[in-house]
Amino acid sequence: MTVERKKWRDLPIGGVIITGGNAQVYLTGNWRTKKPVIDMKRCTNCMICWVYCPEGVILVKDGKITGIDLEHCKGCGICAVECPTKVIEMVKESKDE
Ligand code: SF4
Ligand code: SF4
Repeated sequence: MTVERKKWRDLPIGGVIITGGNAQVYLTGNWRTKKPVIDMKRCTNCMICWVYCPEGVILVKDGKITGIDLEHCKGCGICAVECPTKVIEMVKESKDE
């Protein structure tokens, strides 16, 4: 059996986004080792985490935090560091999830 290999001219140029909106379909949540968990009762809805999250995955509705899009959150922990009231805890991912 022969395997057909792509030639170098067939490969997409590195670092180039060839289709718009592909970040949505690329689920980066499984990169995480820890996930952010917000204590919603103590959250003041100051939006600092929303401003700092590099992935734009803090979910907001009507001016209030409603959760985190864990399909795309990479678990960097920036939100937990920047939260002024320290109500975001980075929790180790369970292998069962
Ligand atoms: S852990 Fe990182 S990617 Fe996930 S919500 Fe917090 S700042 Fe965003
Ligand atoms: S930074 Fe902390 S207190 Fe502010 S909205 Fe985010 S979770 Fe709530």
